[in-house]
Amino acid sequence: MKKQITIVGGGLAGSLLSVYLAKRGFKVDVYERRPDMRKVKISAGRSINLALSVRGIHALKEVGVFDEISKILIPMRGRMVHPLDGEINFQPYSRNPEEYINSVSRGDLNTIMMSAAEEFPDVQYHFNHRCTGMDLETGEARFIDEQTGQVVVAQTQAVIGTDGSASALRSELLKRSGFNYSQVYEDYGYKELSIPSGPEGNFLIEQHALHIWPRKTYMLIALPNMDGSFTVTLFFPMKGDVSFENLDTSEKVQQFFTAQFPDALDLMPGLLDDYFGNPVGSLMTVKCSPWHHKGRVLLLGDAAHAIVPFFGQGMNCAFEDCSVFAGLVDKSGDDWEKIFAECGQERKENTDAIADLAVENFFEMRDHVSDPRYLLMKKIERRLADAFPMRFIPKYEMVSFHRVPYAVAMERGQIQHQILWELTEGIASADEVDWAKAQRLVPERVPPWTWGTL
Ligand SMILES: Cc1cc2nc3c(=O)[nH]c(=O)nc-3n(C[C@H](O)[C@H](O)[C@H](O)COP(=O)(O)OP(=O)(O)OC[C@H]3O[C@@H](n4cnc5c(N)ncnc54)[C@H](O)[C@@H]3O)c2cc1C
Repeated sequence: MKKQITIVGGGLAGSLLSVYLAKRGFKVDVYERRPDMRKVKISAGRSINLALSVRGIHALKEVGVFDEISKILIPMRGRMVHPLDGEINFQPYSRNPEEYINSVSRGDLNTIMMSAAEEFPDVQYHFNHRCTGMDLETGEARFIDEQTGQVVVAQTQAVIGTDGSASALRSELLKRSGFNYSQVYEDYGYKELSIPSGPEGNFLIEQHALHIWPRKTYMLIALPNMDGSFTVTLFFPMKGDVSFENLDTSEKVQQFFTAQFPDALDLMPGLLDDYFGNPVGSLMTVKCSPWHHKGRVLLLGDAAHAIVPFFGQGMNCAFEDCSVFAGLVDKSGDDWEKIFAECGQERKENTDAIADLAVENFFEMRDHVSDPRYLLMKKIERRLADAFPMRFIPKYEMVSFHRVPYAVAMERGQIQHQILWELTEGIASADEVDWAKAQRLVPERVPPWTWGTL
């Protein structure tokens, strides 16, 4: 008889995981709170589009759905920075033109993965089924059928919770002693706005870039969509003088955008409708451990580690979880207790690292990208990367274009940052850099790169 697994949450990670498991011969039941988004038009939830990079792509290739997904990707080769004063400037993400991130529709991605999963007769989705809890001793997971109100109980060998940042299964683990948990809300929230396509369905600003309007304590970003439009996100303080709380009339919004984002405003005829029609989303970091209880339940994806979106890695990291998990299944079959414990051990320090890197990157995006010292450091960073290709890999490249563990990327990034800081102390241009010092510091402090590429 086939071994049966229950997955709670058929979002991005849950759908991918169901394909990994079906390919390994498991019978998989996926319980998803929402209706089937292929039949009912629903908001796919947070952020309409996402940046997909190498870690996510690797997992999608492993399960064989990347070819299909590659058709809906828009490469973004760098940041297009829109300062308030001064020229718009393009900052490439990598020195290598083959390295870029991709804008993808969350809904389309989820839909393709659900359909890929359902091609396996052993994968069954149960839509409109909301998990209400689980008996950690018996392994029974409980659901409410949102359409009929009926209670449904699933009893399988193991349950995997990919039910997102407000995970019901995590709440179950939280009731147990010995479960460590932290949840930190940012003082910032976000709101989605939009730039429509031009009259011919054309892009009104550069298509192959992630646009940023950095304004020190807040920022606007825009990612391209396949139909020529852009999804724009305002990251903004929740409270205070300049905040969502205060920007509460059409006049104030209009005035604020006229003063702060004049070039974006010209492209946003529906600004006021979007602003007052769309909710303010909150941003938080969740860390917890252990991610499992015995061999009965394991959390993966946002359920185990919700992070802020500023490195564009939440989904990529969730997909990497699934890839690591599948590797452990290949090694240990269905010894769930062993696999669940090893999975948490292998991932935890890395997911903690990307959580911290993501918070750090907020400062970089909203503030530093226009700062002269930052720009000088970036210039020198590129030169050092060219001079030491097997040693000095810029942090952004390590995170987005390599699969080096996040914790290693963070550690190497800190060492490299310190070198750049020391080399730029008291100087104004790259010509003034003490290159002899650079030649000495890099091999002295940065270990050789042994992680290869894709
Ligand atoms: C504004 C914003 C921008 C982002 N941008 C990026 C980006 O550019 N790149 C990137 O990699 N990441 C990005 N992220 C992060 C990314 O969205 C998440 O990391 C990713 O969605 C995690 O996938 P998941 O499957 O773990 O959770 P989710 O995608 O949240 O899926 C959880 C699923 O579980 C279901 N569910 C919830 N509760 C229950 C329940 N009780 N019972 C049954 N089902 C349930 C939900 O309906 C959902 O389908 C962004 C996030 C935000 C908020």
